[in-house]
Amino acid sequence: MKASQFFISTLKEAPADAEIVSHKLMMRAGMIKRLGAGIYNYMPMGLRVIRKVEKIIREEMDAAGAVECLMPVIQPAELWQETGRFDKMGPELLRVKDRHGRDFIVQPTSEEVITDIARQELRSYRQLPKNFYHIQTKFRDERRPRFGLMRGREFTMKDAYSFDRDVDAAGRSYDNMYAAYCKIFERFGLEYRAVAADTGAIGGDRSHEFQVIAETGEDAIVYCPTSDYAANMELAEGVALIGTRGAATQALAKTPTPGKSTCEDVAALLGLPLAQTVKSLVLATDELDKDGHIVKTQVWLLLVRGDHELNEVKAGKVEGLKGGFRFATGVEIDAHFGCKPGYLGPIGLKAPLKIVADRTVANMSDFVCGANEADFHFTGANWGRDLPEPDVVADIRNVVAGDPSPDGKGVLAIQRGIEVGHVFYLGTKYSAAMNATFLDENGKPKLLEMGCYGIGVTRILGAAIEQNHDARGIIWPDAIAPFTVVVCPIGADRSADVKAASEKLYDELRLLGVDVLLDDRGERPGAMFADWELIGVPHRVVLGDRGLKEGQVEYQGRRDEAATKVAVGDVVAHLK
Ligand code: ATP
Ligand code: MG
Ligand code: MG
Ligand code: MG
Repeated sequence: MKASQFFISTLKEAPADAEIVSHKLMMRAGMIKRLGAGIYNYMPMGLRVIRKVEKIIREEMDAAGAVECLMPVIQPAELWQETGRFDKMGPELLRVKDRHGRDFIVQPTSEEVITDIARQELRSYRQLPKNFYHIQTKFRDERRPRFGLMRGREFTMKDAYSFDRDVDAAGRSYDNMYAAYCKIFERFGLEYRAVAADTGAIGGDRSHEFQVIAETGEDAIVYCPTSDYAANMELAEGVALIGTRGAATQALAKTPTPGKSTCEDVAALLGLPLAQTVKSLVLATDELDKDGHIVKTQVWLLLVRGDHELNEVKAGKVEGLKGGFRFATGVEIDAHFGCKPGYLGPIGLKAPLKIVADRTVANMSDFVCGANEADFHFTGANWGRDLPEPDVVADIRNVVAGDPSPDGKGVLAIQRGIEVGHVFYLGTKYSAAMNATFLDENGKPKLLEMGCYGIGVTRILGAAIEQNHDARGIIWPDAIAPFTVVVCPIGADRSADVKAASEKLYDELRLLGVDVLLDDRGERPGAMFADWELIGVPHRVVLGDRGLKEGQVEYQGRRDEAATKVAVGDVVAHLK
């Protein structure tokens, strides 16, 4: 590629709305361009990275025996009604109507559609196991889209779905995907960690998140350096909850009066000590109609770790916690209480602490609820005294570095990470809801055992940059860099030698299959180098008149302090 033919558009300053380094650098490097909240154009420079990420994913998914298909972005609501998710999912699910008034959704994920395919196509045990994947645009109407591609509303995901004859076979499919994910993230050249995540109502220990390690990550992960133990913070701490149904919620809905309260009030009501670590109590309901109004209520109190900003993230991922409760995102509370985000608090907890459910429930009169924002608190909420017997809550403990590892093999360390992939054993949750069966050896219909496996293709870009950058810009790992090598001639307009030598080098590298760009824009060296350091091309070769007279060019790796001289004849071998 020649720079004069390509499209390069760099900025000195990042736009004001870019808060974190990856967002700033992607904007400055001209990789993405904002179109609306959480919606971006992928500009040519950024698209090259996306394509490389996709290529690695495709190669490893294919190698693992998965088969690619492509499911529609716009999906009929009927399938989503079959599983109940059309009503149950909150406003994150974008619902649209066609000209006939029929309901559709813009896919946030594709379990329903793939299960529909499977129930028609996978009729016999002989066809199993089968794993379908696609790389497709997703839409999630995130309450707070931010950080550029990291938490977009429109984004690209690779999602795969495995179908098996029984639990054991599903376990093998899961292990197979887990191994494929390790290969994928190794090939990206990123430091990552696979951590156990909550499986909720589905049970078992079969859910792992793949986290790219970065200090700025939204997630906290806990691991033991001397053993295999690794979990996300929620799982490590055992997110605690108490749940009540029906009557209590309705009582609550009738009684609250707007007012102000503090996190101390909430803590006092619950009889909890306040500590440094901010935690929040979340209220939510999961039975809404398509307009976001409550149809049937369930209320959960959920203690969630993290600052307020992260609440919806943490809350959103908790589904079907121990004790059989379902929990939908905190967003739904908006519709319920007319207050902004759906949480109480913040409150703090000191470790270790065991909340006894009945005691907490007894304290649920004159409750304080609302959001972590001034004037969005309600006091005097009455949870009713005729509450059903509550389930016992889990232990809540703050996990801190140096705590003993649960496996007894060392002490725990804590890191921050960005969730870039998630593998999940689904069991028969979707096949049962949609009656997706196959015939076993005895000709008996059996439900398909399923797993689902996602990778946030576009989020990878943000995560890679959070992990790999310096004051000058992005430092792409070779495997996903927009270009691997940039050839920078200095004074090619004045020197025929420089022009000829740079074109020769460019041609040689191209013939060898190296992804090289020749910067023939005629920019001054300072501006040219600043561009490529910002864009983050990992290898740079500079050709100048003086060096060429001595038979030398300058090579500099993006992480190198200074350039090194390399003989013209050796440079290709040096870069290969
Ligand atoms: P998060 O906890 O960050 O909201 P999630 O758990 O809701 O993510 P999954 O449903 O597990 O996400 O989807 C699989 C992958 O899709 C995630 O691991 C992540 O890499 C990516 N992803 C999810 N939401 C977004 C988003 N809003 N923008 C970009 N990528 C996303
Ligand atoms: Mg989410
Ligand atoms: Mg998550
Ligand atoms: Mg996830």
